[in-house]
Amino acid sequence: MSNPSYKRVLLKLSGEVLMGEQQFGIDSEFVAELAKEVKAAKETGLEICLVIGGGNIFRGMAGAAKGMDRAQADYMGMLATVMNALAMQNALEQLGVETRVQSAVQMDQVCEPVIRRRAERHLEKGRVVIFAAGVGAPYFTTDSGAALRAAEMGCDALLKGTSVDGVYDSDPKTNPEAKRYQTVDYDTVLADNLKVMDASAVALCRDNSIPIVVFSIREKGNLAQVLAGEGTQTIVQK
Ligand code: UDP
Repeated sequence: MSNPSYKRVLLKLSGEVLMGEQQFGIDSEFVAELAKEVKAAKETGLEICLVIGGGNIFRGMAGAAKGMDRAQADYMGMLATVMNALAMQNALEQLGVETRVQSAVQMDQVCEPVIRRRAERHLEKGRVVIFAAGVGAPYFTTDSGAALRAAEMGCDALLKGTSVDGVYDSDPKTNPEAKRYQTVDYDTVLADNLKVMDASAVALCRDNSIPIVVFSIREKGNLAQVLAGEGTQTIVQK
């Protein structure tokens, strides 16, 4: 079922996806549905790294906009990503999928620190590795964290599961004529400021030739379809 060219992928989910139909926080039932999709993908033999954002709980920029110190607010955002990682770990383990959470901000009582060789071993043993706290530094996002982990773990693709079914030449919410790209190159994404991931994440993927597959994770079964090279998606590549 899975795309034979993918042996190992990094799946990035924005924190918003975990809200389900809620306005804030974590919808456990929806997280359980997401976990089922991840389990099904793993059962095809794929090695899966996961990165989950924190926007459903806290974004540093939002805190800074209200007068908080940006770095302080970003650390709060990083902590939010750890909460999401733990929620996903719980959901996956309830389905019998072994997982390990590795955080870029050390939290010994809660999860492992990021150790690449150890993460490799987990993947070899068939575990899903969830990388939390982005790159572990303020002024970054989990998109950059996802690109970094995809590069260091040698992933064949970065799958960006979001609320939109691909990359458009303009905002489909405001422009009914907006066209979705099947494929688009990194430099066009950067030059036209297309909404894929932040620029540093796109540049890191470009420099390491990691294709970015943008698709909607909200529709059931979509992850499996995308992995099979079917379904609606946009691939950002050279
Ligand atoms: N964050 C950070 N450094 C990182 C990753 C995340 O400072 O390497 C903070 C930042 O404040 C960000 C928040 O964590 O707004 C949540 O991450 P993100 O906005 O990427 O989540 P998403 O939009 O994917 O839900």
